[in-house]
Amino acid sequence: MMKVFSFESQRVFLARLERGDDLVEGLVRFCDEHGVRAGCIQGLGAVECGALGYYDQDAGRYDTMRFDQGMEIASLVGNVSSKDCQTFVHAHLVLADEKRRCFGGHLMPGCRVFACEFTVWAFDGEVPERMPDPATGLALW
Ligand code: ZN
Repeated sequence: MMKVFSFESQRVFLARLERGDDLVEGLVRFCDEHGVRAGCIQGLGAVECGALGYYDQDAGRYDTMRFDQGMEIASLVGNVSSKDCQTFVHAHLVLADEKRRCFGGHLMPGCRVFACEFTVWAFDGEVPERMPDPATGLALW
C-alpha cells in the first residue's frame, strides 16, 4: 500500500548557506535550527567542488562522482523527512561546468558551497520516517 502524507499547514523559508558549508550538512543544520521535520527544498547557486551519487540498482549501493572545480548548481530539489529519528535531507542536484555541461545525481556529502540560495516549505504534521525498503535496498517512507 502506498504511503501518503497530507499536511494542513506549512511555513516557508527563504535562506542561504555560507561559503564553505557542506551542502547537505548545511541543509540539515538549517532544518534542525528551524524545527523543519518534513518539507520540500529547492535551491540554486554554485559549489566549489561537488559530489554526485548514482544508485547502482543491481549492486544496491551508491557510486560517487566527484568534481574538483567550481560548478553551478543548476537545480537542487529535495525533501525533508526523518531517518533513525534524525532529520534527513534527500536531494538531487544538477551541476553545470564552465561549458554548461550538466551532471545530475543524488546529493552526496562533499559538495562545498560557494553560494546557495534555497527555499524550504516546511510542513507541520506527521513526520515521514524512512524505513528499509527490501524491494529497492533504499530507506524510503
Ligand atoms: Zn536520491
